[in-house]
Order: sequence, then structure tokens, then C-alpha cells
Amino acid sequence: MESSHAVIVAIRFIYIFLSFLNNVQCHNSDEHNLDNLLCKQCGNTIASTHDIRSFSSKLAIKHWNQTLLNIPNVLVQLFENPHKMRFNVITLSNANVYMHEQVYNTDTWFPNYSWSMSVCSKCGTHLGWKYQPTNFNHITHYKNETFFGLILDKLLEEHLSDTLLLVPNSYKS
Ligand SMILES: [Zn+2]
Repeated sequence: MESSHAVIVAIRFIYIFLSFLNNVQCHNSDEHNLDNLLCKQCGNTIASTHDIRSFSSKLAIKHWNQTLLNIPNVLVQLFENPHKMRFNVITLSNANVYMHEQVYNTDTWFPNYSWSMSVCSKCGTHLGWKYQPTNFNHITHYKNETFFGLILDKLLEEHLSDTLLLVPNSYKS
């Protein structure tokens, strides 16, 4: 009888230990998931904390720092386009977006940089712009000289994503 009791105790111990491990793993993955910026329209992952990088412009109407993805002091700049539309823009070294091929040199918010439209790679929503040095080419320039300006209001921090209204794919026609 004693040996069967010992087996039960051992099984319980293993069960508790495995539950503990499982909780630890869940906790870690939750923490990892807090690091992303999502497309507010469809929930697609657009960027992570390590993509955020400050590129300041003197052409910003206004600029300030705010906490984003638990990073304090992320630079946000307010820009206005020729149609008088205003955008709160954050800058990033990389982003999961689709870039239009057409590159423009005029009406740029970053002097000496050209821009092209960037849209969500999943739903096609306009999310911002890619910037590259004017006359950029892959021989005289490095990829890290390019950056993205994304519209803050079109993005959602993943830890706030329970406010996102997602329609399951199976419901879409
Ligand atoms: Zn999207």
C-alpha cells in the first residue's frame, strides 16, 4: 500500500510541476506578444518594439514624446499634407508593409528623402510612407538609410487588441 501511495504522490507532484511549467510558458508568450504594433483595421502585425527609431524633421508642425509598447519617449510628429490633412506619425527602421513602386520627390516631410505609399500587407489599408534618400540606389546607399513613417492612429498596440473588432475569415464573403 505504501508504494502505491508514493506513486500517487509522485504523479501529483509531476502534475503540479507540469502545470507550473505551462503557466511560466504562457506568461512568457504573453509578454512577447505585447511587443507588437498591429494594423487597426485587420490585426496584421506591422512592427515590433525594436523597429521603432526616431527620425526627426524640422517640417513637423508639432512633435512630442509618448509611451508606446511600454517604450517611454517615442517621438511622434504631426505633419500636414498639401490637402491640409494632418497625421500623427511615428518613425521606424522597418515595417511589415507593402510599398508602392512609385517614388515621389515633391511635398516630402523629410528634406532630402523621397517617399512612397505604404499599405498593410494583408488588408491594403494606407498606413504611411516609406522614405529613402533622394536618388537612392542600392550601390551608393545602404538599406538602413531608409525608414518608415506610419500613421499612429491606424495602428494598435497588441496589448490593447481586445478592443479590436475582428471578423473571422469564415464570415467574410
Ligand atoms: Zn490591415
